[in-house]
Amino acid sequence: MSHILDIKNLSKSYDGKNYALSECTFALDTGKICAVVGESGSGKSTLIRLIAGLERPNGGSITIKGAVMSDDNKITAPQNRHVGLVFQDYALFPHLPVAQNIGFGIKAHKDETLQQMLKLIKMDTYASAYPSELSGGQEQRVALARALALNPELLLLDEPFSNLDAALKSDLRQEIKQIVNQVGTSMIFITHDLYDAIDIADEILFLKKGKIQLHCPLSALSKSTENQAVKSLIDELKHNAEHLLQLLKH
Ligand code: ADP
Ligand code: MG
Repeated sequence: MSHILDIKNLSKSYDGKNYALSECTFALDTGKICAVVGESGSGKSTLIRLIAGLERPNGGSITIKGAVMSDDNKITAPQNRHVGLVFQDYALFPHLPVAQNIGFGIKAHKDETLQQMLKLIKMDTYASAYPSELSGGQEQRVALARALALNPELLLLDEPFSNLDAALKSDLRQEIKQIVNQVGTSMIFITHDLYDAIDIADEILFLKKGKIQLHCPLSALSKSTENQAVKSLIDELKHNAEHLLQLLKH
């Protein structure tokens, strides 16, 4: 199976002293979904921003679909990386209605794609609404549709579900998984919620203090709990999951 993403010895320091990301090496197979989990400040967003080309690494290389995007000699602009990005804070254009937000970069079959996307996010009737008129969950779905509309090779989502209510989140998770499998897009998403990972991901990557603690298929996770760092991380995430279950009961 070919790799959609190959990362080698990737490092990033913002201040030249402390490393937000340190010597990270991993690969993602084409079509796979990887959940990145780790405590706040562990370097999750930095990793995604480096892959997207929004930050310049201090060392290492990033290869997407066999093409080097960044190494010691070159850096490819974000728009030429064939990645789709969804941020936690949505980053929608406030002065444009939903339809134009989603359709912003679409070149071919614009109307058709737009209708598909609106349907997909269950917002057919919101085409002319403005971001300020939407709920947080709706904004997030528009941001997702905007990224998917460009048919990216690799979709990167930074805590995409954290502002959604539980019911919507569960639906959206399933929808995303279906879409991603259907179109064969590969995906990396950041989450704090073990349920997100279990529900969607094929594999999981634990980050701690900028280092990869573990990267394995979801199915292998139970065998890795002897690793103390991973164990405590899972315990913490389980706690979040239990909290969610409690909320769902009410
Ligand atoms: P996470 O997404 O896991 O919470 P981040 O990648 O945002 O972690 O941050 C990793 C580390 O890098 C943190 O110590 C954070 O303070 C630092 N950092 C992140 N972005 C910047 C930035 N733009 N300038 C300086 N330091 C940053
Ligand atoms: Mg972050």
